[in-house]
Amino acid sequence: MDRKPWIEQIEEIVGPDHILTSDMDRILYGYDASLAKGKADAVVLPGDTDEVSRVMALAHRERIPVIARGSGTNLSGGTVPARGGVVIHLSRMNRILEIDLPNRTATVEPGVITLDLQNRLLRDGFVYAPDPASQKVSTLGGNLGENSGGPHCLKYGVTTNHVLGAEVVLSDGTVMWTGGKTHDSAGYDLTGLLVGSEGTLGVVTCMILRILRAPEAVKTMLAVYDSIEDAGNTVSAVIAEGIVPATLEMMDRVVMQAVEASVQAGYPLDAAAVLIIELDGMVDGMERQAQKIQAICRRHHVREIRTARDDAERAKLWAGRKGAFGAITRLKPSYMVGDGTVPRTRLPGVLKRVLETGEKYGLLIGNVFHAGDGNLHPLILFDERVEGELERVKAASSEILKICAEAGGTISGEHGIGLEKLEEMHFVFSEGDLAVMRQVKKAFDPKGLLNPGKVVP
Ligand SMILES: Cc1cc2nc3c(=O)[nH]c(=O)nc-3n(C[C@H](O)[C@H](O)[C@H](O)COP(=O)(O)OP(=O)(O)OC[C@H]3O[C@@H](n4cnc5c(N)ncnc54)[C@H](O)[C@@H]3O)c2cc1C
Repeated sequence: MDRKPWIEQIEEIVGPDHILTSDMDRILYGYDASLAKGKADAVVLPGDTDEVSRVMALAHRERIPVIARGSGTNLSGGTVPARGGVVIHLSRMNRILEIDLPNRTATVEPGVITLDLQNRLLRDGFVYAPDPASQKVSTLGGNLGENSGGPHCLKYGVTTNHVLGAEVVLSDGTVMWTGGKTHDSAGYDLTGLLVGSEGTLGVVTCMILRILRAPEAVKTMLAVYDSIEDAGNTVSAVIAEGIVPATLEMMDRVVMQAVEASVQAGYPLDAAAVLIIELDGMVDGMERQAQKIQAICRRHHVREIRTARDDAERAKLWAGRKGAFGAITRLKPSYMVGDGTVPRTRLPGVLKRVLETGEKYGLLIGNVFHAGDGNLHPLILFDERVEGELERVKAASSEILKICAEAGGTISGEHGIGLEKLEEMHFVFSEGDLAVMRQVKKAFDPKGLLNPGKVVP
């Protein structure tokens, strides 16, 4: 492809300092946190909606693929330029535009780092609930693109439950708003459609987010088990009792051992699994609820329950959980993370089959996941330099997603489909279902230029 003419035109729109075209840059923007790789033709860093719109109108005219990118931490190949094209990196559009406490909204640009918004809101005693473990790095635009979850999404819901409105640039450069600050909006729920669409329907340039009062009190417990099955059964028993903790996270021995070598969170190295159970809300009644949960844990043979005595102990427990994906690379240089979801009552049985799948393929699997949501994250550990290992990893990963689908679950809880799970879409959708999705895509993007090759096989 002769890239010169349109690269010069993009330079005129964003300025020569905000377009990257060196071979190194194009390779660097060719991958994300998944195993997939591609190569961009150019990387553009627009400064505002108008520049995004003009770049996209140009790409539309010239039939150039467009890939929106936040921090590139997605785990499914969502920002890999599978067919080349222009990567629109939104890192310069990183302003918190408004905090509207009476209406409980925050209006932000897509490049704002998730934790930066959290920290800003805490100053006023408010929070933005979705808290992916990657929040120190991930952007709110990327969270929207993937419909991200996080430990606290058990009680508060995932990203889609917190996006009230969005400014979006369509494939031909048209700018439109969906939703807004009011509670509900007329017509089709286009905001709902955009959230989780992985940049395949439009590029979001501004978002109105729901914010919540920070809880009055928090209590964090670590429940230690000698059997994964007992830990899994505790999860459904807690929810069945009518208690919805803020978080209900599980971690197995493989992950705990890697975490302890890295963060020293105080996890017991000889236990089979732990649950991190956090309650939040009013002080009144919290102790009673904690006692109820502890009784359920005991009914399921918990070995020990520890309660964080202060913020420092609580932070330590969470540092271990949030650093788990990074820590696991102490065991093997690479990992592939799964993201299947199952009805939580099926967790113990499915976990057993996940470990059996690891044994079948001769691969070590660690588990750290949002157990309360039934959202599994098996970390399949491997070394890409060992011949044939990557192929076994991919086969095992696909088989695990099949197990989840057969258990009445699905193939993605929060990490999206991207490039890596296209084939697995057939596990949960019929040809008819996929045909409807293709029609939706076509209505938004008739030329098929927005993040092509993703989401729908
Ligand atoms: C260590 C680690 C821990 C993680 N923990 C979690 C977790 O707990 N929960 C969770 O849900 N995920 C988790 N993730 C996955 C990832 O961090 C999330 O998917 C995150 O939301 C991606 O944000 P990002 O800014 O990196 O987006 P990117 O990876 O840059 O983009 C993600 C997708 O959104 C699209 N996109 C980006 N910006 C826009 C925009 N402005 N408009 C339209 N589309 C856009 C992209 O095209 C892509 O398809 C984790 C990842 C890592 C590496």
